[in-house]
Amino acid sequence: PSKPQYRGRFAPSPTGPLHLGSLYTALASFLQAKAQQGEWRLRIDDVDPFRTATDATDRILRTLEAFGLHWDGPILHQSSRFEAYRTAIERLELLEHLYACTCSRKDLAAYSGENAETSIYPGFCRNKNRSTLTDQYALRVITENSTVIFEDTLQGTQSQNLATEVGDFIILRRDRVYAYHLATVLDDCEQGITEVVRGVDLLDSTPRQIYLQRLLGLSTPTYAHVPVLVDSDGIKLSKQTFADPVDERNPSSILVELLTLLNQNPPRDLASASKQDILDWAVRNWDISRISALPTVPVN
Ligand code: GLU
Ligand code: ZN
Repeated sequence: PSKPQYRGRFAPSPTGPLHLGSLYTALASFLQAKAQQGEWRLRIDDVDPFRTATDATDRILRTLEAFGLHWDGPILHQSSRFEAYRTAIERLELLEHLYACTCSRKDLAAYSGENAETSIYPGFCRNKNRSTLTDQYALRVITENSTVIFEDTLQGTQSQNLATEVGDFIILRRDRVYAYHLATVLDDCEQGITEVVRGVDLLDSTPRQIYLQRLLGLSTPTYAHVPVLVDSDGIKLSKQTFADPVDERNPSSILVELLTLLNQNPPRDLASASKQDILDWAVRNWDISRISALPTVPVN
């Protein structure tokens, strides 16, 4: 029997144009797929209409093409997947793995002080009667007091106890938006993804995703979390910190810069080659284990 084909993906959120940090992740996942004669799929993470910028998707597609990062197969838009998300929630509901949480931001802030966003949800609503429901509730997944362990291709063995380190987490928000964890798990399955290559800022959400995969009977891909690029102050390049959009007029020099940041040792004269020749070189010489295992890589 032949080995199942490698399938990777890139899943940008269309909140704005791609910056150097997002292109770094895109290139790493592209090369990891192509070096194994695999497919590289594209997904647009537009699950949250409140965070989706008009035209951002078109601009992201244009940028990927400008850098020669051509995706395989159809693009999956999360905004077209609400039916699947709802069905999964019904399934978790039948399994009695969900409950409605009516805690307001204010309630949680009163409990946990300033850290309301990051602190562990204390399970106030776990045993509340469901007949008291109003529209103002979120759905939380009941976590278990056991450790999820996985082997990250770059970061090594990871483990997390969801009950004590994360707490029951939200899969449907109060504003009726499906949570990222649920959407990504269902979409990685839908696209047949065998390995997820993404930024290390998502490393600690992986155990939640593996947990959801197990509850829903989905297979777990392998994971490789690459460092995030930071500026000279150690701040992650992101839309929030106004990182510049990548300059599409000069793909060759940016590709070579990214290969250097990925520690692939591109030869000096590669920057004068065409983007296609650079990508061909990179696919032939790709070694993911050369990427730094540190969480951040400084630009300049
Ligand atoms: N859309 C997410 C982001 O742009 C990435 C999701 C993922 O790779 O799982 O940060
Ligand atoms: Zn609650």
